[in-house]
Formats: sequence, structure tokens, C-alpha cells
Amino acid sequence: MKRRDALQFVVGGGVGAVASTGFSQDRVNPENRPIPPRRSRKATGEIFGTNERLHVRTSGKISGDWFEEGGRNIPLRDSSDVIVCGGGPAGFTAALAAARRGANVTLIEVNGTIGGVWTSGLLSWILDAVNKKGIMEEITGELKTRGMGRRVESAWVYDAEQLKMLLEEMLVEAGVKIRLHTRVVGAVADDSNRLTAILTESKSGREAWTAKNFIDCTGDGDLAAQAGCEFEFGRPADGVTQPFSMMGILSGVSTDEIAAFIRGQCEPRKLGNPKKNFLTELRSAGIDPSYGGPTIFEIREGLYAMMANHQYNVSAINADDVSKATIEGRKEVHAIVNALKKKGGIWQDLHLNTTSEQIGTREGRRIMGRYYMTGEDLRTGAQFEDNICDVTFPIDVHATDPKVTKAIESKPFRSKNYQIPLRALFARDVDGLLVAGRCISGDFIAHSSYRVTGNAVAMGEAAGVAAAIAVQENALPHEVPFEALGSQKV
Ligand SMILES: Cc1cc2nc3c(=O)[nH]c(=O)nc-3n(C[C@H](O)[C@H](O)[C@H](O)COP(=O)(O)OP(=O)(O)OC[C@H]3O[C@@H](n4cnc5c(N)ncnc54)[C@H](O)[C@@H]3O)c2cc1C
Repeated sequence: MKRRDALQFVVGGGVGAVASTGFSQDRVNPENRPIPPRRSRKATGEIFGTNERLHVRTSGKISGDWFEEGGRNIPLRDSSDVIVCGGGPAGFTAALAAARRGANVTLIEVNGTIGGVWTSGLLSWILDAVNKKGIMEEITGELKTRGMGRRVESAWVYDAEQLKMLLEEMLVEAGVKIRLHTRVVGAVADDSNRLTAILTESKSGREAWTAKNFIDCTGDGDLAAQAGCEFEFGRPADGVTQPFSMMGILSGVSTDEIAAFIRGQCEPRKLGNPKKNFLTELRSAGIDPSYGGPTIFEIREGLYAMMANHQYNVSAINADDVSKATIEGRKEVHAIVNALKKKGGIWQDLHLNTTSEQIGTREGRRIMGRYYMTGEDLRTGAQFEDNICDVTFPIDVHATDPKVTKAIESKPFRSKNYQIPLRALFARDVDGLLVAGRCISGDFIAHSSYRVTGNAVAMGEAAGVAAAIAVQENALPHEVPFEALGSQKV
């Protein structure tokens, strides 16, 4: 399903009518479109490899200012053109792009800050951003201008605390309605299979929110699963996902003294491999980290981010698993810092400023869309007419089985640069729903590459623009001719 089929998506079949008439209000016949078929794992069945079950769509009806759910009246909080669920790199960008295109946008985020893995996760290192235009380029430009970050090799390093402010400023300026500390817990669809409302839980209790279009940027595909979309989870054989990691922010040491252990400082000084050096250093301090490629990034002189642990066999959609991983991960980060301090010398004044409030989740649900990215697309360097993101980041599977390796698993093949089609962002099983970020439609190998945040931003931008245009034209997002996205295509 490469260039030719992508073209059919834009001008062929039912969509041809859309393209020739501008924007059709008619529903597109899904049979005429290149949509991946449902697989044996049904939306009502078990998630492969786990005992988790899919959410069941919420049923009820809207009546005045209330949503009646099972005999209970839930307040209807607000109605928007576009609701974005999850405010990570993808969700922030989706909300911003939709608002800038004139939509009335609400962004709902469960944590107390916008940014997801960038801020709650203290990631500090943006990959696959340097070739990007649009909002990604705007963010890196702001990082540079405001002295909050800089380019290192092919990545951008940034100060997470400063980024929190920048993201909030940009959203407020664009007029996005931001609701923090609020979790999306349910989805409501109408008889025509169109998503019409979501349900949330927060200090304000249970609330209902309606919109014309929705974008799931929860990373784990929570909203799409609640809406009944089929999804995949983990590697094909047994559903095991990549490990989680707890980031730590360090200070009290000097870049010159620990340069051999810092990515981006070690290499130009020809001090060897920083990850190998740091692993040896940690072992000599009496600690064998659960991540075999422990890494330090320099945010600025005197401030560093450390990623040194892996939490294996954790399901992102099992709260007990994530709680246990959080406690174990934080304990290990503290143990590593304490061991280095005890070693003394260049580490004697090392200080652990903070660990991430949200443990880093590499992988959750992958929602079935109207295109399914595969490893084969990476191997062949797939190009699409409805391209929304040029990916240069390679396959990067962090150890799924620590008995085999605790670092990066060997690559099944070398990937080429490839593209992501907009169709991979349209939910296949429900209308009025786009997905952006790491939970888009693709297999285990493809996900390990497209998941990084420079790509999540490009996906969010395309999703936001498509959702906003669909509202303006009174069409469903997948009915919008791709050409209408204009400069936001990549
Ligand atoms: C340890 C680690 C290292 C990584 N290394 C890199 C790297 O070096 N560079 C890089 O660019 N990327 C890296 N990645 C990025 C990563 O792989 C993700 O793919 C990235 O976070 C994708 O962004 P996202 O917006 O899709 O998801 P997320 O950043 O996970 O954002 C999802 C957001 O949705 C919110 N949310 C979730 N569920 C709900 C709900 N039900 N209701 C409301 N809100 C909800 C979350 O709180 C969060 O803010 C790393 C990730 C991890 C975990």
C-alpha cells in the first residue's frame, strides 16, 4: 500500500467524490478505501499476552446540560470543535495546530503539566527533530532563542522546567482551553459509529465533554480503546513491551570531569563510548544497572539528565505494574546516585535534584488505523502521497528480555528513511477520531522507530490541522482531501 494506494486514498473511490467536490458531507464507503482488515484479535477480546480486557463504550444520552449514564446524571462540562486527550509532545502540538487553524479546542491532560515524556517524564533529549519544519522547528527555535536548550549531534537537549512554561505559553496564546489533572475514562459514540463525547474523572468528579472531532494523544491509546477500537500490544509472540525507565536530574559535578560519561561530550573529546564508560564506572562503584547502556545528557554546565534503568515486563495499561515499576525505578536511580557519591572523587558532590513524576513509558497500545505501518515500510523506505512525517530515526528496541540483553536488541535489518501516511492516524473502527504520537497504527518494529518525540510532534500537527479543517467543512477527518492540509503536511 505505497504511493499508488495512497493516491487512491486522496482521489480514488469514495474519496474521489470528496476531492472533486471540495468537501463532501456524505459518508465515505469504507469498502472503497485501503483500510487494513480486522484481525483475529477482536475489539471485544483479550489483549494478546495479557489478561487485560478492552473497555466497553459508555452508553447513555445527552439531554440539555447533562449526560445520562446508567440512571446517573453527569454534568456536560463543555462543547468544543476539537478535543485532544493527552498533552504530551503529540497532544500539545495537535491542540496548538487545531487552535491556530481556527478551531475551538480543549486539551485534557491527567498530569499537572503539559509535555508528557518531555516534562513529567524529564526526558531532556528530543530525537528526529532536526529535519522537521512546522511546530517542531518553532519549538527548537524557541529553545535556542530563550537559552533553554541547544542542538547536540542529531538531537536537541532542553531544560524540562523551562519547557513547561514555553508549552503553556504557546497554548494559552493560541486560545486552547487547558484542563489539567483530569483523566479521560470513557467514550460515547452515536448510532452511526461516530465518537460524540468523552467522560473524564477529576477533582470535579465525573464530567462529560462533547466535540465534533477527537484526537487521542494519550500515548497508550486510552480513548481509542475506550471507543472500542481494535489495537495491538507488545511484540507479536507474547505481547511483551519495551521496558520503562525512570529519568533523574543530576547536579553537583562538572562537565569537564565527567565528560567521558556524557553523550555528546565524550565523542568529540575522543574519550571512547560514553555508555560503555558509564557502565564500567557504575560497576566499579559496586552497582550493576538494569539498563546496559546507561546514559548521561548535559542539559547545561552543572545540570544533567540520567537514564540508567530498565523496568522489564511492565504493562503500560496495568496500574499495579506501573506503580511497582515506578517505585522500583526510583529506588534504583537513588541507589545509583548514592553509589557514585560513595565512590567519591569526581562524584563526591553529586546531587539527585529530582526523579520524574511520571515513569517513562516507551510503549502502550497501537491503535488500528486506516494504514498499518510495518517493518517492511522501514526496510524499503516507504514513501506516501499523504506523507505527514519524514522519519530518520532507526529501529530502536530496548531489551524485552534481560536474560538476552539489558541494552538494545539487535536489529532484524537496517531501516531506511521512510514516511508516515496520514491514514495511519485515522482510527479504523470509529469515525471522528484521530490518533497521534506513539499509539498510531503500526507493528512492533515500526513503532520502535516512529515513536520518538520529533515524529510525535509532526504527527500531532497533521492531526490537529486535519481535525480543524474537518470541523470547518463539516466533514469527517478522513474525508478531508489531503491537499487541504497545505503546508502542515510535513
Ligand atoms: C525512557 C524513555 C526514553 C526515551 N527516549 C527518547 C529520546 O531520547 N528522544 C525522544 O525524542 N523520544 C524518546 N522517547 C519518547 C517516547 O518513546 C515516546 O514515544 C513519546 O513520549 C511519544 O510522545 P506522545 O505524545 O505520543 O506520548 P507521551 O509523551 O507519553 O504523552 C502522553 C500524554 O497523555 C497523558 N495521558 C495518558 N493517558 C491519559 C488519559 N487517560 N487522560 C488524560 N491524559 C492522559 C499523559 O499524562 C501524557 O502527558 C523515550 C521514552 C522513554 C519512556
